[in-house]
Amino acid sequence: MIEIRTPAEVEEMRPAGAFVASVVEATAAASAVGVNLLALDKIAGDMIRKAGAVSSYVDYHPSFGASPFGKYICLSVNDAALHGLPFDYKLRDGDVLSLDFAASLNGWVADSARTIIVGKPRPQDVELVDVTRRALEAGIAEARPGNRMGDISAAIGAVAHKAGLSINLEFGGHGVGRTMHGDPHVPNDGRAGRGLPLRAGLVFAIEPWFMLGTDRIYTDRDGWTLRSVDGSRAAHFEHTLAITDGDPLVLTRP
Ligand code: MG
Repeated sequence: MIEIRTPAEVEEMRPAGAFVASVVEATAAASAVGVNLLALDKIAGDMIRKAGAVSSYVDYHPSFGASPFGKYICLSVNDAALHGLPFDYKLRDGDVLSLDFAASLNGWVADSARTIIVGKPRPQDVELVDVTRRALEAGIAEARPGNRMGDISAAIGAVAHKAGLSINLEFGGHGVGRTMHGDPHVPNDGRAGRGLPLRAGLVFAIEPWFMLGTDRIYTDRDGWTLRSVDGSRAAHFEHTLAITDGDPLVLTRP
């Protein structure tokens, strides 16, 4: 079911957005060669407790998950594209790290992701990260009344296609509200002018994620982490936004 939020409800969502942005910022800033993924997860957990927020992940147990997630933040390294389960691993020079975090504050969820490169980057990784970030911004630019969901999807897809990247459509953006995942679905490719008409009060996450080689993924033995089948590296950017009468309100923009 697609929910339309009142302007007052959208205002109530701002603290959740700001909090999620602060956790993505803090964990990204703490990421460096030699830092353990579990230390980054602890930062996220500590910030949740301090803010009085509720983790969207720790008890998360959807049909595709082997068990509750059990950690506070998704950390996906190199060939891990999405849903990376933090484990005892120290970041290495040149690692591509995607940090994806969601939590609720005052009863409202926000969801955001960012990819960084630790240490000395490989040029092709810099390009991948840049393309994925630009795809998110291209999607956000289409998030306004008068457009349709397909305009967002087509804008995201166009950036990837231009860069020669193929797109996996198994996971995409989603409605965000009282819970982390709701309608509408926001595909990372599609046809302009098609799909849901966008109107003020729609709140959803846009989250392009691309891989350098394949568009196919498999689930790691940990039951959660989704990896590229060919070992190629991945990037992922996400913001939660509200459609307004004008420019979209990007709730998770730092
Ligand atoms: Mg997310």
